[in-house]
Amino acid sequence: MCTGCGSDLVDDDNLLCLKCVNELPQTNFALHASNPVEKIFWGRLNLIAAMSEFYFSKGSVVQTLIHEFKYKGNKDVGLYLGAMMGSSMASTERFDNIDALIPLPLFADKEFKRGFNQATILCSGIGEVMNIPVIKNVVVRKRFTQTQTKKHRSERWENVEGSFEINNPAAIQGKHILLVDDVVTTGATLEACGAEILNIANTKLSIATLAFASK
Ligand SMILES: [Zn+2]
Repeated sequence: MCTGCGSDLVDDDNLLCLKCVNELPQTNFALHASNPVEKIFWGRLNLIAAMSEFYFSKGSVVQTLIHEFKYKGNKDVGLYLGAMMGSSMASTERFDNIDALIPLPLFADKEFKRGFNQATILCSGIGEVMNIPVIKNVVVRKRFTQTQTKKHRSERWENVEGSFEINNPAAIQGKHILLVDDVVTTGATLEACGAEILNIANTKLSIATLAFASK
């Protein structure tokens, strides 16, 4: 059965029917510098390159796939989508020389509840295609304590999204990191995490998300 529309599939090895594959709203951002995702981070993070694989829109096949994967725990869908991201990045020199993939961390309790981090699964799909290792558990996401929240009230993400800490700087020092998440909207969370990665000596940063949702 097609994961996108539920129609019968001739070949059950495929996740999607041809109609759904053809309807996927591919951005081609991977190929182009100064694309809309890169523009989100202008003046905020010094990136080598950034991309999103698909435009996100409500009711689209992409939303169905993200739902299957993120909330129903269908990891095959995540690996399939990650592989698509990897193929797009492998088709251009813009994402050459990436040393390691880092999934944007969830809060530990949230990941425990869900049982997985969707960004880690995307990383596995990307890593397989691009032959790049995934680094896990080097970046930790923490909720602000009340006193910290009071101190930093000016920044919305500091309250809602918590903060990020690098617990093993040696593991990423001198590396070009591709930071991966499922959807980018304002970029605030990726910015907070990316800034910590760029604080480590001689790191370079690129960003890839599965979908791009305009504000
Ligand atoms: Zn379909």
